[in-house]
Amino acid sequence: SRVLITGGNGYIGVWVIRFLLEQGYVVRAAVRSDDKGRKLTEYFPSHRDKVEWVVVEDITKDGAFDDAVRNVDAIIHMASPVDSSSVEPEELIKPAVQGTTSILKSAIEFGIKVKRIVITSSTAAVMGLLKEPPNVFNEENWGDEFVKIVQEQGREAPWMYKYRASKTLAEQTAWKLYNEHKGKIGWELVVINPLCIGSPTLLDVKTPKDLNFSLIIWWTAVSKGIANDAFKASYAYIDVRDVASAHVLALSKEEAAGERIIVSNGVITWQETRNVIQSLRPELYTSGIFPLGNPDSHEAVLFDYDSAKGSTY
Ligand code: NDP
Repeated sequence: SRVLITGGNGYIGVWVIRFLLEQGYVVRAAVRSDDKGRKLTEYFPSHRDKVEWVVVEDITKDGAFDDAVRNVDAIIHMASPVDSSSVEPEELIKPAVQGTTSILKSAIEFGIKVKRIVITSSTAAVMGLLKEPPNVFNEENWGDEFVKIVQEQGREAPWMYKYRASKTLAEQTAWKLYNEHKGKIGWELVVINPLCIGSPTLLDVKTPKDLNFSLIIWWTAVSKGIANDAFKASYAYIDVRDVASAHVLALSKEEAAGERIIVSNGVITWQETRNVIQSLRPELYTSGIFPLGNPDSHEAVLFDYDSAKGSTY
């Protein structure tokens, strides 16, 4: 069967496409230019005939996906800005929300064969303001506090709050549209809520600047000892390959229909991370390339996610 994917040329997307191809799916990637489409197919030399691309220049336009959704059996909508240079909240919120609206509306109208739609949300749409630990979030929780703060503070709000607001509002839009049309449509919605994603990238990365945002956070913390404000002492993490597998599984798992699902490998402090890397690659520390921090310190875990639901699939 044929799967339409948006965001397929991003860090997670390329892994998803790889796993889809390995499982025999045909992939149609919606990208912003022919150049990006061409480059994407070059990552899959042995599956050239199984990857096609369509150009959707502006995902926020009504009807942007009317052609792209025709003749596909499923959709994975992953495209959403993760751009920390954005200033106005709308720079993140508009593409996140309207991109979701436009692909779902196109699917409702023209996705006659579509059986499943999987949307990549985030734990950014789940977490709330941190209180005394343990702050354990689950699928009942929403990032509404950040939406409110961003509405009040506008461009002055911290960048991560704007991102969380964009993911929260986009996911809420998806569920609203789905619930309004349920019964009249041939597809089920599944939302995957991954957390901070680490591990290898398949993309052509020449310098750390080419990394996607979550890997930059990770790289800066371990290589420079500077933790991102949002992940001061600890972070919850997942391997990108597990996130990609979850998306592929979500296309066919009966029980996943209508669920939002947190996917997590666990939680760790930055110091524990350094200690693990040191045990694997001690030379990075003896040569002073990476800062060791204080191996004996025991920082508190600030927050975690309950991933019991995802683990049952
Ligand atoms: P990347 O930055 O590597 O990929 C983002 C993808 O989205 C790219 O394909 C990009 O296309 C596309 N995109 C971004 N903005 C737009 C836009 N305005 N219009 C069209 N396409 C756009 O990030 P990731 O792979 O890490 O993230 C992918 C998804 O996963 C996002 O939805 C993100 O919120 C979510 N996520 C990521 C986590 C992480 O830790 N990495 C954690 C939880 C969720 P282009 O190349 O044209 O810019």
